[in-house]
Amino acid sequence: MRLDEVSREFGITCSGGKRARSDATCVVIHQTGGATARGAASYLSTRPDGSVHIIVDDTEAYLTAPISRIACGVKDVNAWTVHIEQAGPFSWRISDWKKHWRTVRRCAWHTARYLVILNEPRRSLSIADLNRGQRHGWTTHRNLTYSTASSSTHVDPVRYAYPLFKLYLRKFYRRFEKNGVPPLKKVA
Ligand SMILES: [Zn+2]
Repeated sequence: MRLDEVSREFGITCSGGKRARSDATCVVIHQTGGATARGAASYLSTRPDGSVHIIVDDTEAYLTAPISRIACGVKDVNAWTVHIEQAGPFSWRISDWKKHWRTVRRCAWHTARYLVILNEPRRSLSIADLNRGQRHGWTTHRNLTYSTASSSTHVDPVRYAYPLFKLYLRKFYRRFEKNGVPPLKKVA
């Protein structure tokens, strides 16, 4: 798939219902622990306790829920968050993520797209930022877990190529700000 192509083959079971788009102010990035986006999308589609908006890997993206629908990406932090899962075993080191730069790039592309759509800053929220109540930008499941915002125990991504992600995020965010946000093309 091209970056702007997504599959709608799978949906979600777990949801907190509908919300106004403007309620979503922060993109949260995750790591599935599994090998493929398709495997995670299929698995999560029937889970009563977990769901996200987008799942990506090197070659594919699955849009499982619109941002107007609250997902179950982090135990108790879903009302103001948009969740993006990246396929990748938890054993991966930073060097593995660099080999899978296409997954990192696809995740950054969708993160940038959502931030520009939502008119939110390209700002990384640290644990301290989250503890201060800051909710505008992007962060990780890991940071939410270590912050006072959540009682989640999941820590993902485990090890991650943050500089590479930030490089792509800057590039795509600037492009979308300047040229507008590209529409998603649905593929089978
Ligand atoms: Zn997670």
